[in-house]
Amino acid sequence: MPELTTRCCIAGGGPAGMMLGFLLARAGIDVTVLEKHGDFLRDFRGDTVHPSTMQVMQELGLLDAFLARPHSEVRTLAGQIGDDQVQLADFTHLPVQAKFVAFMPQWEFLDFLAAEARRYPAFHLLMNTEATGIVRDGDLVTGVAATGPDGPQSIRAELVIAADGRHSTLRDAAGFQVVDRGAPMDVLWLRLSKSPSDPGQTLGRIDAGRIFVMLDRDDYWQCAYVIRKGGIDEVHAKGLDAFRDEIGRLAPYLRDRVHELASWDDVKLLTVAVNRLDTWFRPGLLCIGDAAHAMSPVGGVGINLAVQDAVASANILVPRMRAGKATMENLRALQKRREWPTRMTQGLQIAVQNRVISNVLRTKGTVKTPWAVKLLGRYPVLRRLPARIIGMGFRPEHIRH
Ligand SMILES: Cc1cc2nc3c(=O)[nH]c(=O)nc-3n(C[C@H](O)[C@H](O)[C@H](O)COP(=O)(O)OP(=O)(O)OC[C@H]3O[C@@H](n4cnc5c(N)ncnc54)[C@H](O)[C@@H]3O)c2cc1C
Repeated sequence: MPELTTRCCIAGGGPAGMMLGFLLARAGIDVTVLEKHGDFLRDFRGDTVHPSTMQVMQELGLLDAFLARPHSEVRTLAGQIGDDQVQLADFTHLPVQAKFVAFMPQWEFLDFLAAEARRYPAFHLLMNTEATGIVRDGDLVTGVAATGPDGPQSIRAELVIAADGRHSTLRDAAGFQVVDRGAPMDVLWLRLSKSPSDPGQTLGRIDAGRIFVMLDRDDYWQCAYVIRKGGIDEVHAKGLDAFRDEIGRLAPYLRDRVHELASWDDVKLLTVAVNRLDTWFRPGLLCIGDAAHAMSPVGGVGINLAVQDAVASANILVPRMRAGKATMENLRALQKRREWPTRMTQGLQIAVQNRVISNVLRTKGTVKTPWAVKLLGRYPVLRRLPARIIGMGFRPEHIRH
């Protein structure tokens, strides 16, 4: 079996893995990222790049180049609850360079990171290469077993990072305990074409038993239709025509296009999970991003939390790996630093899931706008608080090296 040696092997070329790969290579540390797919062109990963992530780009001197990629900028968040138009967040007062949420297809974001990382000779990206297990020497993880275009291979590394997402293979292989926090919903993911006469982007529409979110991807709408967990059979049983009618009711201007959903193959089920590991590390192995803590789509913060994990990891690992090998203390320090923001964010997501989403999905009558949301509408200054929590998160990280 061919064997390759690198200092840090990262499984997973998502936001966490690509960002950490870039930061380590930039610091001159030899790093190999394994991505099981042949490209970044998957459309079910969310599109929101928040001010905290763009501040990191600014600190790296990359913000202008990043914003040259196709994106749209959302400075305030609004939505529709029942018949009320509601204002939810105002990002324009945040103390950062980019005072907006950038909606950028995630493949653009990842492709940008890959292009920047490739400038450094220490960066190696192996596409079409799936991590299948870990290599151990006693308790110490010493590498990754993988399958690439030429068959099985082994990658030896003094540090392995599991950034392979919610269904992490490495996390399972290492026997980590996952604590499930529960999610009452799943998401149906579909796309419909855009017409010049469509209204501008809204955050979404909440109505009796229904939550519908639309992301503007220039020439089409990427839509998320929220259903109760396990409710897919019920949706299927009602039939595709009923589903199309439902979309047309929630967004009447899409009625002339719902036939683009030709079969259930055009409606993908994304299961939502919220969980986290008790311990994020083992000797020689560290989990970050969704592999350490799967995030709910609530607030669109998962990508940004994954990036923050990567920045914090680089801040801790770079000085240590320049001087020698990362220690268990370094891995423990990383968990200590990132566990609190993760718990706080998941706590808020779970509160929204249980108090708002579950209630809406159960409601048969008219959905009333909660008083707290009404207050946001009445006092614009209050909209800065949700903007701060969503846009910056808890304990935002900064580039140190
Ligand atoms: C329905 C839904 C919508 C969401 N919408 C948003 C949103 O709008 N904004 C937001 O910020 N967050 C959103 N999230 C959350 C967000 O997608 C995640 O939190 C974020 O992608 C985590 O990044 P990551 O790098 O840790 O993992 P991932 O993005 O999952 O990346 C993992 C990468 O590893 C690769 N991989 C997996 N297994 C292997 C393997 N064995 N070997 C090699 N490679 C492997 C995968 O192909 C992938 O590229 C959403 C989540 C859901 C469920």
